Amino acid sequence: MKKDQASNAPRAAQSLDTVAEFQRRRKLATKRASPFLASTALCMIGIVVLYNVDLFSSEHRVTLYFLLGAGVFVSWMLHLYFETKHARCPNCESLPLDARGSLDFDPENCPKCGARLREYSSLF
Ligand SMILES: [Zn+2]
Repeated sequence: MKKDQASNAPRAAQSLDTVAEFQRRRKLATKRASPFLASTALCMIGIVVLYNVDLFSSEHRVTLYFLLGAGVFVSWMLHLYFETKHARCPNCESLPLDARGSLDFDPENCPKCGARLREYSSLF
């Protein structure tokens, strides 16, 4: 049903759809990835707290440092995974990377296929 509508739709309507779809995906990516961003921050705070308190024996400290460090790493990887899994161009499914190769989370156009991903600013 949806497929038929898309193929019959005129070109202008399709470019509007990529905007709506990309914004929807971006929200989904943020929603899925933000808990892992939070747990990355929590593990980092844990390391700082562990460094400043004197509650554990040295063996336990090493274990806790290791666990928190692994927590930072895994959380950050999962955060990146969900961001890159969902925040893709709806037209060509490529990641919108900027000229320096880093992820652009709110690009105006897809750098690869040129599909519109955001409404042009109405302020100018
Ligand atoms: Zn594209």
